[in-house]
Amino acid sequence: MDTQDARLRSLYEITARTELGIAEQFRSALLVGNTTLMTRMAMINRIEGDKFTVLYCVVPPNTLKEGEEFKLAETYCDITVKTDDVVAISAMATSQYSAHVCYQKFNLESYLGVPIKVSGKLFGTLTFLSPEAHRPEFSENDKDFVRLMGKWVSNTLEQKIADENLRAEKEKLRVLLESLPVGVFLAEAPSGKPTMVNKKAIELLGRGIDPQAGKESYTEIYNFKRENGEPYPMEELPLPITLATGQPSTKSDIVIEGTNGKKIGIRAVSVPIVNPDGTLNSAVVVFEDISKEREIEKMKSEFVSVASHQLRTPLTGIKWFAELMLRGKAGAVSADQKDFLTQIHDSNERMIKLVEDLLNVSRIETGTKFEIKKIPTDMVPMLDSLATDLIGLAEKHKVKIVRAENFPKTIMLSVDADKIRQVFGNLLSNAVKYSHEGGVVTIGLDSSKTDAITFSMSDTGLGIPEKAQSRMFEKFFRAENVQTQETDGTGLGLYIVKAIVEGHGGKIWFESKENVGTTFFVELPTNSPTATK
Ligand code: ADP
Repeated sequence: MDTQDARLRSLYEITARTELGIAEQFRSALLVGNTTLMTRMAMINRIEGDKFTVLYCVVPPNTLKEGEEFKLAETYCDITVKTDDVVAISAMATSQYSAHVCYQKFNLESYLGVPIKVSGKLFGTLTFLSPEAHRPEFSENDKDFVRLMGKWVSNTLEQKIADENLRAEKEKLRVLLESLPVGVFLAEAPSGKPTMVNKKAIELLGRGIDPQAGKESYTEIYNFKRENGEPYPMEELPLPITLATGQPSTKSDIVIEGTNGKKIGIRAVSVPIVNPDGTLNSAVVVFEDISKEREIEKMKSEFVSVASHQLRTPLTGIKWFAELMLRGKAGAVSADQKDFLTQIHDSNERMIKLVEDLLNVSRIETGTKFEIKKIPTDMVPMLDSLATDLIGLAEKHKVKIVRAENFPKTIMLSVDADKIRQVFGNLLSNAVKYSHEGGVVTIGLDSSKTDAITFSMSDTGLGIPEKAQSRMFEKFFRAENVQTQETDGTGLGLYIVKAIVEGHGGKIWFESKENVGTTFFVELPTNSPTATK
């Protein structure tokens, strides 16, 4: 084996010994270099601007040490940097560099150096030096060997720097996650095994990663409850939903019950993390303590409830006395008086309606006294009497209310009659209120399903602007196009209507086009078990 083969082989063996660690690998390679190049000093250096630092070296005792700094201009490496390639000088004294500061200062006769680049940028140099001139002169093989070794040092450093950067990024992320005021819980797909929980998550959950945890056991392990104290069904928790569907999920009604009996209200949002090939990698859930928010919400509802109850009695009094006076029970009323009394009466009616709506909202929100008491009810006379009740409003808006032709004589359904009357009353009065003059409101029916009947209320009115459609069933929401029309309304009607329909196990939806018209659909089950809220 010739020298070149032998030293390449030694170098190769060192590169394979990753268990040594970078520093030891480098020092071993420098030693191979010194021995086979017949030099006395071997170094790997860092160059930053004018600063030259010895990172690793194999040198005779009491000459140099790792970490020692020099000015780049005082080292032969400034020649290598300028040349940007291997520089081999066998005898400095007879070379063009005989006046170099380094030579003047240190008297080093031979030099073999190569630039080291990391990510395409100069990092430093790999150099071999001797106080004696090199005889015979450095050969092409020597230069090739140093070039190759330089390449290996570059690659190794590049990998080391990438690892360090990655570690630094991970550390940044870890600090960020640990200092977040919300809980973060990461679980792998599809098993649901937790892979990371941050400090806040441990605090809220009352425990860290449980080795037994998987999406099938979260409820048990982390003691997730519904507000009424029942266990929260696992398949309804956001994280299992995201793991099963790959879709984000949000829940605001989770309660965690700690071992000390303390209950924490939780809002949780889970999102999928997807692999480059589109498959699900994991799901992350972010959750926060909303106990205080719920407390305030409850206090608000209670306040509305108390205030509405207090308002109801005097308003009923006004209604009662205004009606008595209108009926002449306090003596004859003039035309003007009648007009004013009617206005008092009508304004009072609107206030009573508002108070009733607010009471209903607070009942829905607190879940108290919003019972659905179903009794068999014929829907046909109910709809007829509603149409009659709304004649005044319909005349005011110059709108006609008609029934579709396919209506049977009776439609028996088991419903809470007062509440369903409120539903249709609200939808019909909306259809009239939001119609153009001369419009027609049609009550339709679809009984093609075996287990449900669908009623529809269509109008040819203002319609609902597309951007408002997703917010229709929110409380207090009114679309901009109706607000400019001077129509009365609070935005509470549809919110209550939806709760009533869903309380019956039914569904409500609509189709609408601005300035063309709107159809609301109400599907009620024909024989559902009583749903109560
Ligand atoms: P209100 O009618 O008191 O404003 P609702 O909750 O009943 O409250 O309705 C909420 C909003 O929905 C209305 O303000 C209106 O913007 C829109 N809306 C409801 N029904 C119709 C309809 N038939 N045509 C157009 N817009 C409607």
